[in-house]
Amino acid sequence: MDATHLPIDAEELRGSALSKDILARYRSAVRAARDRESTLRFGRHTVAVSSIAQQFYCEKALQYSIEKPLAPTLQMRNGTAGHEMAAALAAPMTHEEAIAEALVSREKPVCIYEFRIAWEHNGVTLTGFVDEAWFRGGNVDIVAERKFSGSPNIYSTYHIQAGLYCLGLGEMGFDTNRTIYRIDVFSRKCSNCERLASGECSILREDCHSYACDTGSSISQSFPFHRESVTEDLDWALQFWTGERDAEPTTSATRCRSCRYRRICDSSLA
Ligand code: SF4
Repeated sequence: MDATHLPIDAEELRGSALSKDILARYRSAVRAARDRESTLRFGRHTVAVSSIAQQFYCEKALQYSIEKPLAPTLQMRNGTAGHEMAAALAAPMTHEEAIAEALVSREKPVCIYEFRIAWEHNGVTLTGFVDEAWFRGGNVDIVAERKFSGSPNIYSTYHIQAGLYCLGLGEMGFDTNRTIYRIDVFSRKCSNCERLASGECSILREDCHSYACDTGSSISQSFPFHRESVTEDLDWALQFWTGERDAEPTTSATRCRSCRYRRICDSSLA
C-alpha cells in the first residue's frame, strides 16, 4: 500500500488534535503572563496554586512570607525532600510527552508525577505542579496530593490545593467531570522512607486508608472534585492578588500560636 494512503486511526488523530490544543492553552496562559504588565500584588505575573492554598491558612502570613521571607525550617525542608522523593519515581519526559501520554486510551490509568499546569482565570495566570495525576484517555481519574505533617489531619488548605489542581487540569482541556482527588498525609518521619520512595508503602494501595509502621504513619482519603465551589474559592483568593482587598488575617488563635510571624503581626491572636 502507498504510504500516503494508509488508514488513519481516528482515535490517534483525535488525541493528536487534543494534545496540540492542551499544549496551546498552556503556552498561551504562560505567554500572556510574561507579555503583560503586572497588575498583581508584589509585581507578580503569575500566581502559584500553592500560594493560594496558603491564603486559606492566613493571608497575612502569606503576605509576611513574601515581604519578610524567613529561611525554611527543617520541617519544611523535610517536606520538600519528601516531595522530591515522590517525583523521583517519575519517568523523565517532556511536557509534550506527558500530555500525549495522558491522552492515550487505556484500561488502567497512568500516573504522571509533577505534571505542569497553567491556565488563565479572569485575566490572571495560575501555575502549579500536580504531585500525581492519574490519566486515562484524556480523563483525569485521580489527582493525588502528598503532605508531610506533624498532625494526621486533612486541613482545608489541602482541599483547596488539590481542588485547584483539578480545576487547572480541566481548564487546560482534560476531562474532569468525574475526577476525584486523594490526599495522603504522612508523618514527618516518612519523608526519608525508602519504601515510600520506591512506591511500596501500603498507604499507596487504593484500598488502604491508614497505615503505620515502625518508622511513621499515614492516612489517605478521597473526595469528589466540585468545580463550582473551587471556582468560588479562587475568585475570593484573587481579590487579594488584584488589590481589590487587603490581606485577611486568620481568626484561629491556634494558627497564630504556631505562626513564625506572630511577634511582628498586628493581627496576631497569640
Ligand atoms: S500571627 Fe496569626 S494573623 Fe498574624 S500572620 Fe500569623 S497566623 Fe496570620
